[in-house]
Amino acid sequence: MYLDTSPAEEPRLAESPLQDPVLPESGNDSQQVASSSLRKPVVVKKGDTLGKILTSGSVANSEIFSATAALRPHFKPTSLKPGQQITLIYDGLPENPYFAGLEIEPTPGTILTVSRTENGDFTSSTTKAALERHVTAARTTINSSLFEAGAKVGVPASVMANMIRIFSWDIDFQRDIHAGDQFSVLFEEYYTPSGKQVKTGNILYAALKVGNDERVVYRFEDSDGIVDYYGENGKSIRKALLKTPVDGARVSSGYGLRKHPILGYSKMHKGVDFAAPTGTPIFAAGDGVIEQIGPWSSYGNYVRLRHNNSLSTAYAHLSRFGKNLKKGSRVSQGQVIGYVGTTGRSTGPHLHYEVVMAGKQVNPNSVDLPTGREIARKDKDTFSAVVAQHNSEYQEALSQSTIVATAP
Ligand SMILES: [Zn+2]
Repeated sequence: MYLDTSPAEEPRLAESPLQDPVLPESGNDSQQVASSSLRKPVVVKKGDTLGKILTSGSVANSEIFSATAALRPHFKPTSLKPGQQITLIYDGLPENPYFAGLEIEPTPGTILTVSRTENGDFTSSTTKAALERHVTAARTTINSSLFEAGAKVGVPASVMANMIRIFSWDIDFQRDIHAGDQFSVLFEEYYTPSGKQVKTGNILYAALKVGNDERVVYRFEDSDGIVDYYGENGKSIRKALLKTPVDGARVSSGYGLRKHPILGYSKMHKGVDFAAPTGTPIFAAGDGVIEQIGPWSSYGNYVRLRHNNSLSTAYAHLSRFGKNLKKGSRVSQGQVIGYVGTTGRSTGPHLHYEVVMAGKQVNPNSVDLPTGREIARKDKDTFSAVVAQHNSEYQEALSQSTIVATAP
């Protein structure tokens, strides 16, 4: 939960292990609109009440009471239905986060907003928005930065950020993109009847030409309802991490609360321990760049790999490091990055392995990690149809759209 104070980290460290900037996300995930506010969409589950949802959103009882009172003239809180979405809005981030209000769509096209007034009370208002979906295409050559190139042809920054996230499994945007590279994109936009663009939707198709190498991806929802981006060959652009980064090891301690073997009391174990003899090779869980390598506090000899803008993996207590590796080195999945040891705060030879998403250690077994998905046989025809459809939509939108420009 975003606003909770998380339990003490294990091992205890002077500073947080990750300081990476996190790209703004769009779509249905939590999204940080600006540095100061946060919109957190919550889907109502069976048995949920508004009070329950707000409580788990760290909203104080007095605020729940007055926000609910403000809502009531427009919407009966008891008519909440499972599947409905409520967006909780927080302001004052990161220093002093506070509950600023919420949004709910009581009927399609009507947005009911509850917002905090200056005196700390809550007020509500409704807006009608029957949105029209448009698809927009853009194509351009990159002169300096990708964002600048996007802005030049009118592609919203949120779409550019999404595109970077989609391609970040393959491309290191800081290092690989050069002047003369090209991109094209087909994305959704939503307009009010009066023609005001209110939000962007999904990227349907994107292509990135880096040097002579062109990568093309298509958005596809398979028959199980799983959405991913695939190349024309039907393979997901997101590659899976190795499940076990050490050969023949067993999990000796999983992710979660446990009694600490040295400190004696219960602490959150924010990684997975693999027991293996000293000297057992440790593999990079995925392609990446070494972000940190060397002795580091209670982690002992430590390596952290950055796989993309939001995903890293870390390896601790190593006896020694892989050959010729240093900060900034690129490694490929399966490459030996070090050897099991017991350096730092450790009771015996093991690998302490962490998966870090958006700066936080996560349970590798419960998070939505990439799986290296491939289009299933039963979905192949539908996928081919979607590819053809997006290709022709792209050509059509490119010829119609006024914001499209091809840089010289
Ligand atoms: Zn551990």
